[in-house]
Amino acid sequence: MIIVKNIEECRAARKKLGRLALVPTMGALHEGHLSLMMLARAHAPKVAASIFVNPTQFGPREDYTKYPRPIEADLEKCRQAEIDLLFLPDADQMYMPGMAEVIVDLPQLSSVLEGKHRPGHFRGVCQVVAKLFNIIQPDVAVFGQKDFQQFRILSAMVEALDFPIEVVPGPTVREPDGLAMSSRNQYLSPTDREKALAISRGLFAAQAEFKKGIRQTNRLITTIQHILLEQHLSIDYIAAVDPITLKHVDAATGPVVLAVAARVGTTRLIDNITLA
Ligand code: AMP
Repeated sequence: MIIVKNIEECRAARKKLGRLALVPTMGALHEGHLSLMMLARAHAPKVAASIFVNPTQFGPREDYTKYPRPIEADLEKCRQAEIDLLFLPDADQMYMPGMAEVIVDLPQLSSVLEGKHRPGHFRGVCQVVAKLFNIIQPDVAVFGQKDFQQFRILSAMVEALDFPIEVVPGPTVREPDGLAMSSRNQYLSPTDREKALAISRGLFAAQAEFKKGIRQTNRLITTIQHILLEQHLSIDYIAAVDPITLKHVDAATGPVVLAVAARVGTTRLIDNITLA
Protein backbone atom coordinates (compact mmCIF):
# COMPACT_ATOMS: atom_id res chain seq x y z
CA MET A 1 0.00 0.00 0.00
CA ILE A 2 1.36 3.40 -1.00
CA ILE A 3 0.53 6.03 1.64
CA VAL A 4 0.72 9.66 0.56
CA LYS A 5 0.00 12.81 2.50
CA ASN A 6 0.46 15.55 -0.04
CA ILE A 7 -1.14 16.32 -3.37
CA GLU A 8 2.00 16.14 -5.51
CA GLU A 9 2.97 12.70 -4.15
CA CYS A 10 -0.59 11.56 -4.66
CA ARG A 11 -0.66 12.64 -8.32
CA ALA A 12 2.71 10.94 -8.95
CA ALA A 13 1.58 7.68 -7.32
CA ARG A 14 -1.76 7.72 -9.10
CA LYS A 15 -0.06 7.98 -12.54
CA LYS A 16 1.45 4.52 -12.10
CA LEU A 17 -1.85 2.79 -11.32
CA GLY A 18 -4.00 2.56 -14.47
CA ARG A 19 -7.73 2.04 -14.02
CA LEU A 20 -8.55 3.06 -10.47
CA ALA A 21 -11.60 3.05 -8.17
CA LEU A 22 -11.74 5.49 -5.23
CA VAL A 23 -13.46 5.16 -1.86
CA PRO A 24 -13.46 8.53 -0.06
CA THR A 25 -13.90 8.29 3.72
CA MET A 26 -13.47 10.24 6.94
CA GLY A 27 -11.82 7.25 8.62
CA ALA A 28 -12.89 5.42 11.81
CA LEU A 29 -13.34 2.61 9.32
CA HIS A 30 -15.95 -0.09 9.83
CA GLU A 31 -17.49 -2.92 7.80
CA GLY A 32 -19.53 -0.40 5.78
CA HIS A 33 -16.38 1.25 4.48
CA LEU A 34 -14.73 -2.14 3.90
CA SER A 35 -17.71 -3.31 1.84
CA LEU A 36 -17.25 -0.26 -0.40
CA MET A 37 -13.58 -1.15 -0.83
CA MET A 38 -14.55 -4.68 -1.91
CA LEU A 39 -17.11 -3.27 -4.31
CA ALA A 40 -14.48 -0.87 -5.66
CA ARG A 41 -12.21 -3.83 -6.36
CA ALA A 42 -14.96 -5.41 -8.48
CA HIS A 43 -14.98 -2.27 -10.63
CA ALA A 44 -11.26 -1.66 -11.13
CA PRO A 45 -7.98 -3.57 -10.73
CA LYS A 46 -6.56 -0.86 -8.42
CA VAL A 47 -8.30 0.72 -5.44
CA ALA A 48 -7.55 4.02 -3.74
CA ALA A 49 -9.03 5.24 -0.47
CA SER A 50 -8.83 8.61 1.19
CA ILE A 51 -9.13 9.37 4.87
CA PHE A 52 -9.81 13.02 5.57
CA VAL A 53 -12.07 14.50 8.23
CA ASN A 54 -13.23 17.40 6.10
CA PRO A 55 -13.73 20.53 8.20
CA THR A 56 -15.85 22.31 5.58
CA GLN A 57 -18.72 19.81 5.85
CA PHE A 58 -19.15 20.26 9.60
CA GLY A 59 -21.32 23.01 11.05
CA PRO A 60 -19.96 25.25 13.83
CA ARG A 61 -21.82 23.30 16.52
CA GLU A 62 -21.05 19.86 15.09
CA ASP A 63 -18.54 17.19 16.08
CA TYR A 64 -15.49 18.06 13.89
CA THR A 65 -12.99 18.18 16.75
CA LYS A 66 -14.31 15.11 18.54
CA TYR A 67 -14.82 13.02 15.37
CA PRO A 68 -12.90 9.72 15.95
CA ARG A 69 -9.46 9.51 14.28
CA PRO A 70 -8.07 6.01 15.06
CA ILE A 71 -5.38 6.26 12.40
CA GLU A 72 -3.34 3.15 13.28
CA ALA A 73 -6.40 0.89 13.23
CA ASP A 74 -7.53 2.50 9.97
CA LEU A 75 -4.15 1.88 8.32
CA GLU A 76 -4.34 -1.78 9.33
CA LYS A 77 -7.86 -2.11 7.90
CA CYS A 78 -6.75 -0.51 4.62
CA ARG A 79 -3.83 -2.93 4.43
CA GLN A 80 -6.16 -5.87 5.05
CA ALA A 81 -8.47 -4.56 2.32
CA GLU A 82 -5.43 -4.46 0.00
CA ILE A 83 -5.84 -0.79 -0.77
CA ASP A 84 -3.25 0.19 -3.38
CA LEU A 85 -3.12 3.93 -2.71
CA LEU A 86 -4.13 5.68 0.51
CA PHE A 87 -4.41 9.47 0.51
CA LEU A 88 -4.15 11.00 3.98
CA PRO A 89 -3.99 14.77 3.61
CA ASP A 90 -4.22 17.21 6.49
CA ALA A 91 -6.52 20.22 6.46
CA ASP A 92 -3.78 22.67 5.38
CA GLN A 93 -2.93 20.43 2.45
CA MET A 94 -6.51 20.42 1.21
CA TYR A 95 -7.30 24.03 2.10
CA MET A 96 -4.16 26.08 1.63
CA PRO A 97 -4.47 29.20 3.75
CA GLY A 98 -5.39 32.08 1.45
CA MET A 99 -6.96 29.84 -1.22
CA ALA A 100 -9.92 31.45 -2.99
CA GLU A 101 -13.32 30.25 -1.83
CA VAL A 102 -15.09 28.02 -4.37
CA ILE A 103 -18.68 26.91 -3.91
CA VAL A 104 -20.01 23.80 -5.61
CA ASP A 105 -23.69 23.67 -4.83
CA LEU A 106 -26.68 21.80 -6.20
CA PRO A 107 -29.39 23.87 -4.52
CA GLN A 108 -32.42 21.82 -5.55
CA LEU A 109 -30.92 18.66 -4.06
CA SER A 110 -29.00 20.15 -1.14
CA SER A 111 -31.70 22.36 0.40
CA VAL A 112 -33.82 19.44 1.67
CA LEU A 113 -33.45 16.68 4.29
CA GLU A 114 -29.86 16.72 5.60
CA GLY A 115 -29.16 20.00 3.82
CA LYS A 116 -32.03 21.70 5.59
CA HIS A 117 -30.80 20.58 9.00
CA ARG A 118 -27.09 20.98 8.29
CA PRO A 119 -26.76 24.24 6.34
CA GLY A 120 -23.63 24.25 4.15
CA HIS A 121 -22.98 20.53 4.72
CA PHE A 122 -23.32 19.48 1.09
CA ARG A 123 -21.29 22.46 -0.14
CA GLY A 124 -18.48 21.09 2.00
CA VAL A 125 -19.03 17.56 0.73
CA CYS A 126 -19.09 18.65 -2.93
CA GLN A 127 -16.02 20.84 -2.44
CA VAL A 128 -13.93 18.07 -0.92
CA VAL A 129 -15.10 15.35 -3.29
CA ALA A 130 -14.50 17.57 -6.35
CA LYS A 131 -10.98 18.21 -5.05
CA LEU A 132 -10.38 14.50 -4.40
CA PHE A 133 -11.61 13.71 -7.91
CA ASN A 134 -9.20 16.26 -9.41
CA ILE A 135 -6.27 15.09 -7.29
CA ILE A 136 -6.77 11.32 -7.61
CA GLN A 137 -8.53 11.23 -10.99
CA PRO A 138 -10.29 7.92 -10.38
CA ASP A 139 -12.22 6.11 -13.11
CA VAL A 140 -14.81 4.91 -10.59
CA ALA A 141 -15.94 6.33 -7.24
CA VAL A 142 -17.92 4.31 -4.70
CA PHE A 143 -20.27 5.89 -2.14
CA GLY A 144 -22.61 4.28 0.39
CA GLN A 145 -26.40 4.32 0.21
CA LYS A 146 -26.37 4.94 3.97
CA ASP A 147 -25.88 8.58 2.96
CA PHE A 148 -28.36 8.35 0.11
CA GLN A 149 -28.77 12.12 -0.35
CA GLN A 150 -24.99 12.49 -0.53
CA PHE A 151 -24.91 9.72 -3.14
CA ARG A 152 -27.61 11.46 -5.19
CA ILE A 153 -25.91 14.88 -4.96
CA LEU A 154 -22.47 13.54 -5.89
CA SER A 155 -23.91 11.58 -8.84
CA ALA A 156 -25.62 14.77 -10.01
CA MET A 157 -22.40 16.77 -9.54
CA VAL A 158 -20.45 14.28 -11.65
CA GLU A 159 -23.09 14.48 -14.35
CA ALA A 160 -23.47 18.26 -14.29
CA LEU A 161 -19.73 19.02 -14.21
CA ASP A 162 -18.74 16.21 -16.63
CA PHE A 163 -16.31 14.43 -14.37
CA PRO A 164 -15.27 11.33 -16.39
CA ILE A 165 -16.07 9.10 -13.42
CA GLU A 166 -18.54 6.27 -12.92
CA VAL A 167 -20.32 6.67 -9.57
CA VAL A 168 -21.27 3.36 -7.94
CA PRO A 169 -23.60 2.94 -4.92
CA GLY A 170 -22.81 0.44 -2.16
CA PRO A 171 -25.62 -1.02 -0.02
CA THR A 172 -25.92 -0.05 3.66
CA VAL A 173 -24.12 -2.47 5.94
CA ARG A 174 -25.88 -3.07 9.27
CA GLU A 175 -25.00 -4.60 12.61
CA PRO A 176 -26.69 -8.00 13.16
CA ASP A 177 -29.48 -6.25 15.14
CA GLY A 178 -30.19 -3.81 12.28
CA LEU A 179 -28.35 -0.65 13.38
CA ALA A 180 -26.74 0.94 10.33
CA MET A 181 -22.97 1.00 10.80
CA SER A 182 -21.59 4.48 11.35
CA SER A 183 -18.41 5.96 12.75
CA ARG A 184 -20.68 7.98 15.04
CA ASN A 185 -22.09 4.80 16.69
CA GLN A 186 -18.96 4.92 18.89
CA TYR A 187 -20.47 7.90 20.68
CA LEU A 188 -23.42 5.82 21.91
CA SER A 189 -23.60 4.53 25.48
CA PRO A 190 -25.09 1.01 25.76
CA THR A 191 -28.46 2.55 26.74
CA ASP A 192 -28.38 5.02 23.86
CA ARG A 193 -27.43 2.24 21.46
CA GLU A 194 -30.57 0.34 22.49
CA LYS A 195 -32.65 3.45 21.84
CA ALA A 196 -30.91 4.06 18.49
CA LEU A 197 -32.15 0.66 17.31
CA ALA A 198 -35.60 2.26 17.01
CA ILE A 199 -34.41 3.95 13.81
CA SER A 200 -33.80 0.77 11.84
CA ARG A 201 -36.73 -0.95 13.57
CA GLY A 202 -39.01 1.88 12.45
CA LEU A 203 -37.76 1.70 8.88
CA PHE A 204 -38.21 -2.07 8.76
CA ALA A 205 -41.70 -1.81 10.26
CA ALA A 206 -42.66 0.66 7.52
CA GLN A 207 -41.15 -1.63 4.91
CA ALA A 208 -43.24 -4.53 6.27
CA GLU A 209 -46.38 -2.38 5.95
CA PHE A 210 -45.39 -1.45 2.41
CA LYS A 211 -45.00 -5.15 1.61
CA LYS A 212 -48.54 -5.72 2.97
CA GLY A 213 -49.80 -3.23 0.40
CA ILE A 214 -49.89 0.09 2.24
CA ARG A 215 -48.92 2.83 -0.20
CA GLN A 216 -49.80 6.10 1.60
CA THR A 217 -46.49 7.43 2.79
CA ASN A 218 -48.05 9.40 5.65
CA ARG A 219 -49.08 6.07 7.21
CA LEU A 220 -45.56 4.69 6.80
CA ILE A 221 -44.11 7.88 8.31
CA THR A 222 -46.52 7.66 11.27
CA THR A 223 -45.42 4.08 11.93
CA ILE A 224 -41.78 5.17 12.09
CA GLN A 225 -42.64 8.19 14.22
CA HIS A 226 -44.40 6.04 16.85
CA ILE A 227 -41.42 3.72 17.14
CA LEU A 228 -38.93 6.60 17.47
CA LEU A 229 -41.05 8.45 20.02
CA GLU A 230 -41.48 5.31 22.15
CA GLN A 231 -37.72 5.51 22.71
CA HIS A 232 -37.85 9.30 23.22
CA LEU A 233 -35.61 10.02 20.23
CA SER A 234 -35.56 13.60 19.08
CA ILE A 235 -36.61 13.54 15.43
CA ASP A 236 -35.03 15.91 12.89
CA TYR A 237 -37.08 14.47 10.03
CA ILE A 238 -38.87 11.38 8.76
CA ALA A 239 -39.40 11.71 5.02
CA ALA A 240 -40.68 9.77 2.03
CA VAL A 241 -38.97 11.06 -1.11
CA ASP A 242 -38.33 10.28 -4.73
CA PRO A 243 -34.74 8.95 -4.95
CA ILE A 244 -33.93 11.16 -7.95
CA THR A 245 -35.65 14.49 -7.21
CA LEU A 246 -35.62 14.08 -3.39
CA LYS A 247 -39.13 15.58 -3.43
CA HIS A 248 -41.86 14.36 -1.09
CA VAL A 249 -43.96 11.47 -2.42
CA ASP A 250 -47.55 10.92 -1.26
CA ALA A 251 -48.13 7.42 -2.60
CA ALA A 252 -45.40 4.81 -2.87
CA THR A 253 -46.37 3.62 -6.33
CA GLY A 254 -42.82 3.97 -7.71
CA PRO A 255 -39.43 3.85 -5.99
CA VAL A 256 -39.47 5.76 -2.69
CA VAL A 257 -36.80 6.31 -0.08
CA LEU A 258 -37.86 6.52 3.55
CA ALA A 259 -35.25 8.60 5.34
CA VAL A 260 -34.79 9.34 9.04
CA ALA A 261 -32.54 11.67 11.00
CA ALA A 262 -32.81 11.59 14.78
CA ARG A 263 -30.82 12.37 17.87
CA VAL A 264 -30.13 9.94 20.65
CA GLY A 265 -28.75 12.09 23.46
CA THR A 266 -26.21 14.29 21.67
CA THR A 267 -25.55 11.82 18.86
CA ARG A 268 -27.23 12.52 15.54
CA LEU A 269 -27.86 9.44 13.38
CA ILE A 270 -29.30 8.98 9.89
CA ASP A 271 -30.64 5.93 8.11
CA ASN A 272 -32.87 5.13 5.15
CA ILE A 273 -34.48 2.31 3.23
CA THR A 274 -35.66 2.09 -0.37
CA LEU A 275 -39.17 0.80 -1.00
CA ALA A 276 -39.61 -0.78 -4.40
P1 AMP B 1 -17.83 8.52 6.07
O1 AMP B 1 -16.48 8.02 6.49
O2 AMP B 1 -18.88 8.39 7.13
O3 AMP B 1 -17.77 9.87 5.42
O4 AMP B 1 -18.32 7.53 4.94
C1 AMP B 1 -17.51 7.22 3.83
C2 AMP B 1 -18.32 6.40 2.86
O5 AMP B 1 -18.77 5.21 3.50
C3 AMP B 1 -19.56 7.14 2.36
O6 AMP B 1 -19.73 6.85 0.98
C4 AMP B 1 -20.65 6.54 3.21
O7 AMP B 1 -21.92 6.57 2.58
C5 AMP B 1 -20.16 5.10 3.34
N1 AMP B 1 -20.77 4.43 4.47
C6 AMP B 1 -20.85 4.88 5.74
N2 AMP B 1 -21.53 4.00 6.52
C7 AMP B 1 -21.90 2.98 5.70
C8 AMP B 1 -22.63 1.76 5.90
N3 AMP B 1 -23.12 1.41 7.08
N4 AMP B 1 -22.81 0.95 4.83
C9 AMP B 1 -22.32 1.29 3.61
N5 AMP B 1 -21.60 2.41 3.37
C10 AMP B 1 -21.40 3.24 4.40
